[in-house]
Amino acid sequence: MSTNFDAYEVVIGLEVHAQLLTRTKLFCGDSAAFGGNPNTQVSPVTLGLPGALPKLNKTAVEFAIKMGLACHSEIERNNYFARKNYFYPDLPKGYQISQHTTPICKGGFVHIRTAGGEKDIQLNRIHLEEDAGKSLHDVDPANTSVDYNRAGVPLIEIVTEPDLRSSDEAYAYLTELRKIVRFLGICDGNMEEGSMRCDANISIRPKGVTTLGTKVEVKNLNSIRNVKKAIEFETKRMIVLAGEGKAIQQETRSFDAADGTTFSLRTKEEANDYRYFADPDLPPFHVSDAFLEEVRSSLPALPEELITRYIRELQLPEYDARVICDDKETVDYFERLVKETVHYKAAANWLQGPVWSARNEEGFTLKDFPVQPARLARLIQLVEEGRLSFSIASSRIFPVMLKDTTGDPLDIAITLNLLQSSDTSEIAAWVEQALARMPDKVTEYRKGKKGLIGLFVGEVKRLSKGKADPRLTNQLLLEKLEN
Ligand code: ADP
Ligand code: MG
Repeated sequence: MSTNFDAYEVVIGLEVHAQLLTRTKLFCGDSAAFGGNPNTQVSPVTLGLPGALPKLNKTAVEFAIKMGLACHSEIERNNYFARKNYFYPDLPKGYQISQHTTPICKGGFVHIRTAGGEKDIQLNRIHLEEDAGKSLHDVDPANTSVDYNRAGVPLIEIVTEPDLRSSDEAYAYLTELRKIVRFLGICDGNMEEGSMRCDANISIRPKGVTTLGTKVEVKNLNSIRNVKKAIEFETKRMIVLAGEGKAIQQETRSFDAADGTTFSLRTKEEANDYRYFADPDLPPFHVSDAFLEEVRSSLPALPEELITRYIRELQLPEYDARVICDDKETVDYFERLVKETVHYKAAANWLQGPVWSARNEEGFTLKDFPVQPARLARLIQLVEEGRLSFSIASSRIFPVMLKDTTGDPLDIAITLNLLQSSDTSEIAAWVEQALARMPDKVTEYRKGKKGLIGLFVGEVKRLSKGKADPRLTNQLLLEKLEN
């Protein structure tokens, strides 16, 4: 009997841990920076030594609230921290400090678009907690080593409702989430480096059924693409099991990136009992009206808002607006560029064309891009005034500007003798030459084959090495040909 995949739907809930970009840890002044020598950022608080007292980092609270506001969540005013008890070598205190019954953000949603349409993915909660240290299995061949630098670094955990219905939706959700944390500047969003980590909860059910099926949780997903792959693998595996009339086990599984499969880590019976209780060393904390307003007023514009603004105020096509708002770096550069030029559509074209290619092919970042917005704006101006063609500007001047980080585009154009000619007699000479080279075509044109005009324009362009003003060229050609 073959399995009927269409008879089932997949249900997915995602849990994402995002490392907050605070300078210090969640409960002490140790540096939260990544990459320090092992165990150099470990005070008694991080190590949980007797008598050490934690103290809450206000910036971490601010970042969590920012995320909540960006996701339309309700902000919890009365918070406390709880101890989540378990034993693991990378957990020096024997418990993790987390939020249990009072997540700082409740509900909310993230808006996504897929080929299937638009949708709000409902959130269950966003809470604050501390990260664990890191077990290192490759330092010493006989033993496992632990680095506690990461222990105590602030995280937010963003938990969705079981609201996603396909691997594409999961992909779109994570892409959007990463965009939001980067726009807010609260997390660098790099899944490959572990600063954003995702666990996927997956179940299936026959179409039409509204209750939830038994779920598996897949861990160790270190890229958005792998989340998608894991969901696709699990969906298939579970539907095949269901088709064979077998029960699906509630379990935690791990994703093997090497072959795109998952394997069981532990079943429900082996699950921990965390024995949560309020941390007696940390007083409850209150989010005041004033603090909430302060955070709200410091929120930067987010992609959806910017897209609307670019369409309305700058008259950009929606496609251009979306491409520009795809990453924060591009938006920052574009914002500076449109302060220097009113040719908004041209500015958008440059970002999607020559600038994009330079970033991709030569590895430039926009933060230290050799052609800063003011200089690019001057180049755009020369094209708009008809003194340079776009093709000369992008293929001849721009590459020079990438290497020479101060040269003015006009000076470069003059030095290289590239300024477009609007000198009628000079262009007329090129027109003469062009027509003289193709007497047969001229005759054909005069007999009615008007499409040949393109050929003549092309020839003038070639003869003038792109310097002949195209509008004047056309005009002079017509004058010659029609008379
Ligand atoms: P747990 O206690 O196992 O962590 P939670 O109820 O806290 O489970 O949910 C964790 C995540 O799993 C949430 O994102 C939730 O939406 C998702 N989830 C819960 N039940 C299911 C299910 N049956 N199928 C898919 N996802 C689920
Ligand atoms: Mg879980």
